[in-house]
Formats: sequence, structure tokens, C-alpha cells
Amino acid sequence: GATLGVMGGGQLGRMFVHAAQSMGYATAVLDADPTSPAGLVSHHHLAAAYTDTAALAELARVADAVTTEFENVPAPALRVLAQSRPVAPGADAVAICQDRAAEKAHFQRAGVPCAPYAVVDSDAALASVDAALLPGILKTATLGYDGKGQVRVATRDELTQAWQKLGKARCVLEQMLPLQNELSVIVARGGDGDAVTFPVQQNLHRDGILAVTQVPAPQVSAELAEDAARCAKAIAASMGYVGVLCVEFFVVAGADDSPRLVANEMAPRPHNSGHYTIDACDVSQFDLQVRCMAGLPLIAPRLHSPAVMLNLLGDLWFAADAHVAHTPRWAEVLALPGAHLHLYGKADARPGRKMGHLTITGATASEALERALQACAILGLPAF
Ligand code: ATP
Ligand code: MG
Ligand code: MG
Repeated sequence: GATLGVMGGGQLGRMFVHAAQSMGYATAVLDADPTSPAGLVSHHHLAAAYTDTAALAELARVADAVTTEFENVPAPALRVLAQSRPVAPGADAVAICQDRAAEKAHFQRAGVPCAPYAVVDSDAALASVDAALLPGILKTATLGYDGKGQVRVATRDELTQAWQKLGKARCVLEQMLPLQNELSVIVARGGDGDAVTFPVQQNLHRDGILAVTQVPAPQVSAELAEDAARCAKAIAASMGYVGVLCVEFFVVAGADDSPRLVANEMAPRPHNSGHYTIDACDVSQFDLQVRCMAGLPLIAPRLHSPAVMLNLLGDLWFAADAHVAHTPRWAEVLALPGAHLHLYGKADARPGRKMGHLTITGATASEALERALQACAILGLPAF
């Protein structure tokens, strides 16, 4: 039988492995951590760095096609693999998604609006920043996630200090936008250019980290949802993307006060905001990742149940004043109809660490919401 390889062994890789295995594939995971969540459940686990040439050769030997689950996998490693195996998404697309400046330039190329911004990569660039971009958010161009590598700045002085604090790394300064809400869309695009999208998700972040995803998006009109899907497809098509791509959007008030989409960023892989697709859609984002890389037909996903996804961060394992980890009250949560608990097999809980997620499906959106709020009460999560 065929073997599918994945660069990265985190929870996204683990859920990819589950999907691949359920379709009869063997799997190979490349991740330096010998106890990585995906490596633990994979047929082959190559515990080596992404740049290890021997490990890359071994991955190319055992895997018939390779994908990625880790946003910052070095593009050159993907190029090496692509010499002998299909790699989806390709190195060039991944490189765009890894760099906020390239990403924003790409949004513009695809005809999709993004926040007004400037690249800050020198003292001269810093000095010539347009005052209209303040107040804004200074973000490192590469390697940021979960709100890390970002500083909010109101004045030029704060901007100068923030850039120093970020080690004068190449940055993007974005205008701070008044957000009505946040959405994301997952698109899967095959090698033949056919693309399908999942229903648009509405996302709530806390402290820069995704906390809650709701589908159907409660505050999104059919027109806005269609527009988001169209934008996501245009962004994928204009970089010849093959695989699963997530595009995050802000909703802001347009000129005539009607809601308008602004692309925020994208991820060249399945996304945390798409985890609900496992339990609430007839085909998941991971199933489509498998289909994309294996050259199998893509089908339009159908949402069969309204759903709310709650991220389970390591904080849950620590009561307000306890320093010793305890197990959250899963049995009570699992007594709720429609509760689907996913834990990633990470041994040590740490605050802010993504340990798992809980998807609550319901016959109606209000039923899913009501039970999700009950789950929050049981777990000690804030209501939303
Ligand atoms: P992720 O974990 O999603 O990759 P990240 O660290 O790459 O996060 P962003 O998505 O750029 O960060 O920003 C994190 C959050 O900060 C956004 O979801 C949004 O809530 C807020 N934010 C970012 N940029 C802006 C902006 N220009 N205006 C207003 N809010 C913003
Ligand atoms: Mg990001
Ligand atoms: Mg983001």
C-alpha cells in the first residue's frame, strides 16, 4: 500500500495521520521530538530536524507523497523532497505563507483587500512610516503565532521601542482595525485546479489565541460568507496552491457601513479553526488534505450539524491556585449530547499550550451553543 508523509508531528499531523490511516494509507512523520503527537500514532516516525538531509532522504524513500502540518517547515527542505516526490503544498506557496510581507503582497495580487501596512526592515523604513498606520500592530514578518511576536503601538515613540523590543527583526506594521468579528475559510485545492471550501467559521480569540469557533457563523450573512469563500479560492488559485489552505479574515465596517472583508493571514495547512469539520461535516479538513496529496477527487463538504469548538489549553489542567496539574472533568463534559473530545496525547500541560479541543454538535445552532456554554461552566472556561 501507499505511504503518506508529513513534515511536522504536532496535533495537526496527528489528525492528518488519523485521516490517512482510516483511508488505508500508512504514514510517515518527520519531527525531531520522539514523543510528538503525530509520531506516536504513525507507522514511521523519523525523529530528526527538518534540515537533516539523511532524514529527508529517508522520508522521500518511504513516503509516496509529502505534506506539511507545521507552518515554519523550511521551504528548502520541501524543495529537496519535491525532487523525488509530489509535495503539497509546494515550497513556493509555503514560503509566501511564512512571511507576512509576502503574504500581504499576495493578497493584493489576488485582488483581496488586507489591512493598510508598511514593511519595517530598516531605520529608514521605520522613520518613513505613514502616521496613518498608527495606532497599529507591529508584527514580526516571520515565525509569529498565537499573538507572539506582536506589539500594539499607539505613537511613533512606542513604534520605535517596539521594533527594538522585537530585536529589529524584519516586521510589518499594520493599521489597527476596528473589528466587528473574525472569520476563517478553509479551502482545499487539487492539482487539477478544482477547489472546494468548508463553511465559513466565526472565531473568537483570547490573548491572541483561538478560543472558540462557531459554525454556522452567527453574525455572517450569506453574501459575506460567499465573498469569503470566493476570496479564499482566489488566493489559493493565484499561487497555484495544491492542498488545504486556511485564510483568516477580519470583518470591518465598510464605507456604507455594510460589513467588509479584510484578509488577515493564511496558513498552508489545516487549521485549528477547522477542527470542527471532523465531527460536523461529512468530510473533514484532514480527509481533504489526504485527497489533495493523493490526487483523489475532492468533494464539496457538507455541514451536517451546527457546531461549536472550544480549544482546550493547558491552563485547564491547573485550578486557579493549584501548581499541580489535575485532570479536567471530562466525564461530566462527555455526558453532554453531541460532545466530541479530542486530546492530542501531550504529556505535559502548560499554560497556553494546545492540549486538545472539544467540538459540540447539535441539531440546531442554539442547541450546540447551549451545550457548549454548559461545557464551559463545567470546565471553568469563560462564557462567550
Ligand atoms: P495565529 O495563531 O492565528 O497564527 P498570529 O500570531 O499569526 O496568530 P494574527 O492572526 O496576525 O496573529 O493576530 C492575532 C489576533 O490579533 C487576530 O486574530 C486579531 O484578533 C488581532 N489583530 C491582528 N491584527 C489586527 C489588526 N490589524 N487590527 C485589529 N486586530 C488585529
Ligand atoms: Mg499566524
Ligand atoms: Mg491569526
